[in-house]
Amino acid sequence: HGFTPDQERLRETLTTIGNGYFGTRGCYEGEKDRDDIHYPGTYIAGVYNKMPTRLSDATVYNNDLVNCPNWLPVEFELENGEILRPLDREMADYYQCLDMKNAEMRRVISFKDKKGRIVSVDSTRFASMADPHYAAIRCSISSDDYSGKLIIRTALDGTITNNGVPRYRSLTSQHLEPVNSYVENDELHLAVKTISSNITIYVRSKSAVYTDGKRTVPQRQFKIDKGFVGEEYAVRIKKGASIAIEKIVSLFTSKDRDVKDVATHANKSLARATTYHDLFRRHTRAWSKLWDASDITIHGDRFSQRASRLHIYHLYCSASRHNTAIDAGMPARGLHGEAYRGHIFWDELFIFPFYNITLPEITRALLMYRYRRLPMAKKNAEKLGCRGALYPWQSADDGGEETQEQHYNPLSGEWGPDLSRRQRHVSIAIAYNFYSYFTITNDYRFFYKYGAEILVEIVRFWVSICTYDQTTRRYSITGVMGPDEFHEKYTWSEKPGLKDNSYTNIMVAWLMKKTLETIRIMPDSIYKKFTARMNISKTEMATWNKISSKMNVCFSDSGILMQFDGYDKLKDIDWKYYKEKYTDIHRMDRILKSEGDTPDQYKVAKQADVLMLFYLLSPAQVKEMLGLMEYSIGDENEFMKKNYQYYVYRTSHGSTLSYVVHSALYKYGNIEPTDRWTWFLNALKSDIYDTQGGTTTEGIHCGVMAGTIDIIIKSFAGINFSGDGIEINPRLPKHWQTLQFNVLYRGSSIHFKITQTMLRMKLNADSPRGIVFVVNKKRHILRNRNVLLINYRNQR
Ligand code: BGC
Repeated sequence: HGFTPDQERLRETLTTIGNGYFGTRGCYEGEKDRDDIHYPGTYIAGVYNKMPTRLSDATVYNNDLVNCPNWLPVEFELENGEILRPLDREMADYYQCLDMKNAEMRRVISFKDKKGRIVSVDSTRFASMADPHYAAIRCSISSDDYSGKLIIRTALDGTITNNGVPRYRSLTSQHLEPVNSYVENDELHLAVKTISSNITIYVRSKSAVYTDGKRTVPQRQFKIDKGFVGEEYAVRIKKGASIAIEKIVSLFTSKDRDVKDVATHANKSLARATTYHDLFRRHTRAWSKLWDASDITIHGDRFSQRASRLHIYHLYCSASRHNTAIDAGMPARGLHGEAYRGHIFWDELFIFPFYNITLPEITRALLMYRYRRLPMAKKNAEKLGCRGALYPWQSADDGGEETQEQHYNPLSGEWGPDLSRRQRHVSIAIAYNFYSYFTITNDYRFFYKYGAEILVEIVRFWVSICTYDQTTRRYSITGVMGPDEFHEKYTWSEKPGLKDNSYTNIMVAWLMKKTLETIRIMPDSIYKKFTARMNISKTEMATWNKISSKMNVCFSDSGILMQFDGYDKLKDIDWKYYKEKYTDIHRMDRILKSEGDTPDQYKVAKQADVLMLFYLLSPAQVKEMLGLMEYSIGDENEFMKKNYQYYVYRTSHGSTLSYVVHSALYKYGNIEPTDRWTWFLNALKSDIYDTQGGTTTEGIHCGVMAGTIDIIIKSFAGINFSGDGIEINPRLPKHWQTLQFNVLYRGSSIHFKITQTMLRMKLNADSPRGIVFVVNKKRHILRNRNVLLINYRNQR
């Protein structure tokens, strides 16, 4: 309820509608990009455009997820010339609702005109989940005390720029040029083209007017301009009556792979779309299938219930079943805004676990985005004189490195070097994602056809970047940055990057081991073909084995994993001093740099780095890996706890991903429950309350959204998929009475219901081979549609 201009951009992000093919921010349909308050953005997955900008003495290139034509415009003008817009009119009431179940956004505004008459606009809209190329909007206007002329305008507007992120405003923002705009068969047609990537975007709309529910055909005028096409109806409205306008829109691009002749198809597409209600019916049916697969029910905690559903809703707006027909990756900030220019990062690592257990075909489609860019990843490696594949830290359309070279510091107003492309660990995440998809789905065909090749090429890159150190008699990796982005280099060196980042080195060793395992367990016929095609020799495999058991890992005197070699020489930061001075100290990098200092000389991390190890591997797996490298750590749980306590104190959580990692570690039971709850709530609240102060206005954080769902499944329900069955060890928060959800595991859909004392598992369909469950160390096999009921002790 209510209209607070300062909050509007956040609401627009949070009320975005989308279907994986496109997303449209929840901007009021009668508004333009205005005063940093309204920002109508529509983003089509995979539509990027790269433009140069001259910055002082250098030219920089930025590849942006393009703000596509605005299909929303519907505007009402009263007879005295007053246009009904929240920023310009007095309002008696303002109400907005996102119906997550049916994926429809509604806004009801009661405007007061200059004579004090109340006119209400009730509008709804959706992005069809049944047919991803359709969107619809319906606005109904009514008044008990206004009667007279009413002008209704609708339009398709292609004269827009990427203007959503204030920090990027000095960069080129014009990405579209007009192709044509015309009216045919009473439909508005607009085609625009991205300037350098040459993608044509076709948008069409048709509208229908209803007076008191009956279709009428009022007089109409058209307005055609470059990159713009609009129509204007002149109607009369009586007191107590209502006039509604429905606008049905289709969107296509020349990149679409699900239709053959896109241009012709785009022209004809609207003929099939009938009314708002018809399209809506099909749309809600498609959403109800998504909710069946992925809804989470929590009794006892309304906030967690609503926020987790909001997260699921936005994940499907960002990537859905429709991704199988398009070549697009998972933008870290969804199809909801322009932050990070819509690029794709390692955040998939946090996102895919959600799709893996709900609709794994979506993970598969997103993994294919990476597979198709393997040739480019090989070129990236080659440029460094390496073998194999190196994926870029930031990826967009062609898979080249899109990380900017200069980073803007809003605190100092200065641009400085951005070395974050040194986060080579993104390739580890990609390999890990292929592997975990396989573990959960058992999809051998896909894994052998695509995943195994990715694993091998990524391993090859690491082999060629490793160096053997005669003194330590171990392998080292230099010139890299870990997930903690604050540390970019050593203060005493000009060279970018650091040596022996523990997360990187241990995960590289893990990856080499898993790749060897993958090849060894291949059936003979596949093994022969695969090793021949990939030209893998026994000697090469022996090298992977040798490196993985001789990787260098640095420990402190007290046995803590050092984030990287030399970390122990850094100074501790005076948190109290900075907290008092700046209050918000999440972005210590910006604070220190604006003071002419550098985070490189402090033990201060933006986000979990060493602790990422325990996010991906269990303490026992970490111990096993270190053991293979001849490092002994004693009790693995104690070891994890020690590392947690050390690093949690040195982390500023400048990325909300950090909360997810810290909370998730609770699944191993050796973190204070209050800590886990604090981190979980921080993650859950981060987008809905925009706790980073402005970042959600520029797009959601898909990694955190999916990460919170993963915490519920893996940490609270305590589900572990890493064995040959499902192990369950619930640690439900004490105020959660029941937790229910479905999991798709190796082709079987299982319904879980967990209370404080009881566990209930039911197979939703016949599964003759059965699923193995391990509870309290006991194995149970569940077959067909049987139910398993077990009492357990909550290990909270
Ligand atoms: C985080 C990265 C993340 C990126 C995109 C950054 O703030 O530090 O880990 O990949 O945001 O979400």
